[in-house]
Amino acid sequence: MQKSVTICVPAKVNLSLDVLGPRPDGYHELVSVMQAIRLYDTLVLERIPDHPAVKGHGPVIELAPGPLGTCSQEALSVVPLDETNHISKAVRAMENKTGTPFPVRVKVFKDIPVAAGLAGGSADAAAAICGLNELWGLGLSRQEMADLGSEVGSDVPFFFFGGTALATGRGEHIRQLRYPGDWHILVVKPPLSVSTPFIYKAYDHYPQCSSDCTQGVIAALEAGDFVSACRSLGNDLQPVTSSHFPIVARVLARLKEAGAPGVCLSGSGPSVYALVDSPEQGQDLRSAVEDLVEVAVVTKFCSLGVETLCV
Ligand code: ATP
Repeated sequence: MQKSVTICVPAKVNLSLDVLGPRPDGYHELVSVMQAIRLYDTLVLERIPDHPAVKGHGPVIELAPGPLGTCSQEALSVVPLDETNHISKAVRAMENKTGTPFPVRVKVFKDIPVAAGLAGGSADAAAAICGLNELWGLGLSRQEMADLGSEVGSDVPFFFFGGTALATGRGEHIRQLRYPGDWHILVVKPPLSVSTPFIYKAYDHYPQCSSDCTQGVIAALEAGDFVSACRSLGNDLQPVTSSHFPIVARVLARLKEAGAPGVCLSGSGPSVYALVDSPEQGQDLRSAVEDLVEVAVVTKFCSLGVETLCV
């Protein structure tokens, strides 16, 4: 019987995010192109030997900074380790689906910044579902895991497909798009955390005009046209987050002034990214905003989603 499994899961950015409007269930109807990027959380799941004391207590979660050092101990201290952690919710959803208890310890080596608009919590939930499927040999398909993940969070299903995808509904319906290639990207996070529900509430009181950019982004990706993709990027939440958190507006402006080909907010922020021609351009732009941000990573698009690491 397999005792442990190591799962690697990327962060995502939104190349487009069109908000279509509020829904009766409190969510917003969205259309968004999501892109996985090479910035990962790594989760090691270990079976805890069956003991009555651990039954019904949820997973034991341990968090540590990942190898890149993009998450400090202090940044990680805000992440709850109890039943409200997205990993605990994922384990509970799996237990409810299968009727089996999953006594498990989950060590998370975190490089995806927290509350940053990069869906780190959702990525971890997807990794936990994938890890349990593997460890207990459940044989669930990617689509079955994605359906289960949608009960945990709107962004979770994306990670079972990864690469480049169109998300609709509240973000949980996924259609894979053509992967445009290993494009380079600079991701920066200003030193603040943003609550996604807060930004959506603020959006409802904001004079609304959708940037309606998703079709342009899809066309550019299908054509593999980097320049056109840079021009098409857009996020309806960007004016809202920028007006509540002026540092976000400053980072966006600074990157544009420094010559970034395409700049946009990811999710509800505060992370901002720039698509760049080369790693060198990424490093130059990084220098231009270094004094304003807490995290800056030059990396690439990723064609995959959540994956089991063979170690
Ligand atoms: P979202 O758009 O889902 O809010 P995000 O990328 O902006 O995602 P996350 O890093 O997922 O932000 O964190 C959102 C909230 O979830 C934070 O308050 C964080 O403390 C909490 N959280 C719960 N579980 C986790 C986890 N495993 N990793 C990161 N954050 C978690």
